[in-house]
Amino acid sequence: MSIATERQTIQNFVNGVWIDSASSETLPVIDPATGKTITHVPLSTAEEVRAAAAHAHEAFQSWRDVPVTERAQVMYHMKALLDKHHDELAHSVTRENGKLHDEAWGEVRRGIEVVEFACAAPTLMQGRSLQDVSRGYDTVMYRFPLGVVAGISPFNFPAMIPLWMAPLAIVCGNTFIHKPSERTPLTGNLLAELWAEAGLPNGVFNVVHGAKAVVDAMLSDPDVRAVSFVGSQPVAAYVYATAAAHGKRVQALAGAKNFTVVAPDADMERATATVLSSAFGNAGERCLAGSVVISIGDATKELLPRLIEGAKAMRVGPGDDPTAEMGPVIRAEHCARVEQYIEQGVQEGATLALDGREGRSTDGGYWLRPSIFTNVTPEMTIAREEIFGPVLTVLEAETLEEAIAIANRSRFGNAAVLCTTSGAVARTFQMQIEAGMVGINVGVPSPIAWFPFAGWKQSFYGDLHATGEDGINFYTERKAITSRW
Ligand code: NAD
Repeated sequence: MSIATERQTIQNFVNGVWIDSASSETLPVIDPATGKTITHVPLSTAEEVRAAAAHAHEAFQSWRDVPVTERAQVMYHMKALLDKHHDELAHSVTRENGKLHDEAWGEVRRGIEVVEFACAAPTLMQGRSLQDVSRGYDTVMYRFPLGVVAGISPFNFPAMIPLWMAPLAIVCGNTFIHKPSERTPLTGNLLAELWAEAGLPNGVFNVVHGAKAVVDAMLSDPDVRAVSFVGSQPVAAYVYATAAAHGKRVQALAGAKNFTVVAPDADMERATATVLSSAFGNAGERCLAGSVVISIGDATKELLPRLIEGAKAMRVGPGDDPTAEMGPVIRAEHCARVEQYIEQGVQEGATLALDGREGRSTDGGYWLRPSIFTNVTPEMTIAREEIFGPVLTVLEAETLEEAIAIANRSRFGNAAVLCTTSGAVARTFQMQIEAGMVGINVGVPSPIAWFPFAGWKQSFYGDLHATGEDGINFYTERKAITSRW
């Protein structure tokens, strides 16, 4: 794998061919650990989206008729190729996103898992049948692909999130246009190389790089039937409304503010490890990051000193340094935005028990150390808004009911976690908490590919979640045929 990323400006991949964008506008792709430019990404034009969609539409006319058993064979090849290039892909993720190599490796693994799920398409694509629905009448339901699907992904999982989308869309018989994040576009090109090598016909998988103009063109393109989006809440709301207004099927996974509730009966050593890795893993740039802790009653006394001590001891360094425990954040502007939230927390009266602006590296790159706020009220900005950086906010509650009520007041509902040793407490929490993904003593409750991945409330726009059976339903149309002979 190489052609795709080792250029002055990376190329689009359309109809099986690598092509330069017609646009002269580019953005630098930067290594967040050094601040140095790796290459440039083109800001492609609406006309280039139109051309890619027309090719994808043309490719759809034959891809949809390829038997599902043959489409599944491509997934088996892709799985083998992803395994073969696993480490290389992880290095690419680390290089452009900054996350630790282990985290990048894990993300690639979670992406491969979706391809493994897609290998079961001959079973997943099955419909249903019922004979004698009335005397002499039989009904069967078949699934059909939709056509061209557009996939728009965020910067924080450059390998995994495109792999939530493309394998399922393609194995169901659709064709696909990917717009990677303009901040982390390189891994998307490596995936395009692998899809071609896996045996996809030209035009089935395409990449068009760019930013808002590319997204807008996708949302209104006449050949695009469905849009899978993952990104921040305001953009998700915009994508959902705009694509729906153009008659498209949409799933838009959005931002988050995830609560980790620590009960007084929790194993505090485990709870500390759970909270620290959830809040500061991927430098807090994870939609499942447990960025708010609510400690109940006596839990605070034991938990808080452990959290502060653990966070203080974390080794922050480049993702390819095996001793590093947290990498850089994505860009200088993002770093400044996180610092602004820290400042706002202080101004709103919270106690900054650990200040991640202190003692950080100034040697290139975008560095912050972990921050922890205490004496926080649920109304403060730092307890409500997604910061998307290494900042942990600690709230206190008297009872489980109060903790659940605080969490449920959030406009987000992506994930929620409880640390406890009590089954009864766990049951109350999992029944009452308003979130799409719940962890009991699991800090990052990311469901495996066989289950639906998405949140509730403003963390998700649409009805069919990513992956699992929802994914198959999203990428297919159902037809019920009733016959009498
Ligand atoms: P983002 O919203 O800035 O960008 C996401 C995609 O949308 C990118 O491809 C970008 O080019 C495009 N985009 C950006 N602004 C746009 C605009 N105004 N109009 C049209 N398109 C636009 O998100 P990000 O910063 O790349 O990613 C981080 C966000 O994604 C966080 O909020 C995080 O919680 C969220 N996220 C959610 C999930 C989930 O499963 N719910 C998973 C990962 C990330």
